[in-house]
Amino acid sequence: MSLTLRVDGERWRAHLLATATRHPGIVPVAKGNGYGLTLGRLARRAQWLADHVERTGARLDMLAVGTYDEVGEAASRYDGDLLVLTPWRPFGAALDLDARTTSRVVHTVSRPEDLTALLERDPDARFVLEQLTSMRRHGMTRRDLAVAADVVRRHGGERGGLRGVAMHLPLNTTSHLGEVSRLVNDIVASGLPARTVFVSHLTHDEHARLATTYPDFTVRPRIGTDLWLGDRGALSVSSTVLDVHEVERGEAFGYRQRSAPKHGHIVVVSGGTAHGIGLEAPTGDQSFKARAATLARGGMDAVGFVRSPFSIDGKQRLFAEPPHMQASMLFVPSGARVPRIGEDIEVRVRFTATDFDRVVID
Ligand SMILES: *Cc1c(COP(=O)(O)O)cnc(C)c1O
Repeated sequence: MSLTLRVDGERWRAHLLATATRHPGIVPVAKGNGYGLTLGRLARRAQWLADHVERTGARLDMLAVGTYDEVGEAASRYDGDLLVLTPWRPFGAALDLDARTTSRVVHTVSRPEDLTALLERDPDARFVLEQLTSMRRHGMTRRDLAVAADVVRRHGGERGGLRGVAMHLPLNTTSHLGEVSRLVNDIVASGLPARTVFVSHLTHDEHARLATTYPDFTVRPRIGTDLWLGDRGALSVSSTVLDVHEVERGEAFGYRQRSAPKHGHIVVVSGGTAHGIGLEAPTGDQSFKARAATLARGGMDAVGFVRSPFSIDGKQRLFAEPPHMQASMLFVPSGARVPRIGEDIEVRVRFTATDFDRVVID
């Protein structure tokens, strides 16, 4: 009856352990919808991972969360440090932490004036300074970093709360090494007493190269997707067929009372907008000529049906109308096998945008 994420537990846990072992100093990232697995589950799993990794002599002493609003949920399930990825600002949720939780938090500071404001409020605050990268999301320029270095110097220098520098890099660029080298040089030039760099989206190879180039720096990878979702074969998503109705050409159906373009079946499946199921891009080539050709062939997309993420017998089916809150209506033209009520069908989802009814870990 549900939109379900099934996890092959043994395989998933093996992947988590292998990833943590391959990336010494890893900071797992648990944020948002927990990559589909829920934040609470990931925080508990990070604790499990920390316990296992420690037995091998390595450490996993820090978990990253996305926002200050997520700190509480992670803090009750994971007992190490909590790095907040959203930069600290002198307003909002960052100021609402209770004293006990605050002592476990490592803030991300992305503007020199925020560093001054944070240390005025909490002289014992622990923090990383974020550098501006080619992402241009948050972070300090070379000049900002020099200003922040002065603030750090006035607040205890290397005995103060500085825990390192953070860089958030774009995905899949040719190589990050040039950019990272430039940023590391900026750290050195700023005189900051920081030799730990928290990075995202470096390849294993890039990590190794950096370790060789900057032997006095410790590079700590922040990893979410490749950790939790890195072994896709361990994850499968299914939706349940809830109802099936035969329709003749011209018969009306759905909220919009559209009429069936030809004989077939309306198949109602679990999963809708509340789960994050959305309309997919229209099928194929949308040029006028292509549409005319499809129309001539009697293709469904030509009558305005849009591709859905649901597949039956390996064939991606079209939405009969836009997804509803918790269910979706698909159109299965005659000739194709009609699934039975109760049958599970496959769904392709973006894990970071999907809330499952159930996550089943075998
Ligand atoms: C989300 C996030 C990460 C983790 O990204 P993945 O692609 O899921 O590994 C790392 N760093 C920052 C700042 C992030 O916001």
